[in-house]
Amino acid sequence: MLRPNCECCDRDLPPDSLEARICSFECTFCAGCVETRLGGRCPNCGGEFVRRPIRPAAKLVSNPASAVRVLKPHQACVG
Ligand SMILES: [Zn+2]
Ligand SMILES: [Zn+2]
Repeated sequence: MLRPNCECCDRDLPPDSLEARICSFECTFCAGCVETRLGGRCPNCGGEFVRRPIRPAAKLVSNPASAVRVLKPHQACVG
């Protein structure tokens, strides 16, 4: 599921964004939050992040990104 935003700061992360980071559970954050707020660890599961791969534009037609925005008040995000 390609999420449309950062769980921390709610900035848009379109399917072709190079700034999107995901953990193994596909919790989705922007690179800025991962580096400056989260210390490289997912606040949900404690796992590591990798850059979210770009889904080819042709595949987005039949497999569109999710429109459901996830935003959680993580301590690391608020503080
Ligand atoms: Zn963010
Ligand atoms: Zn996670």
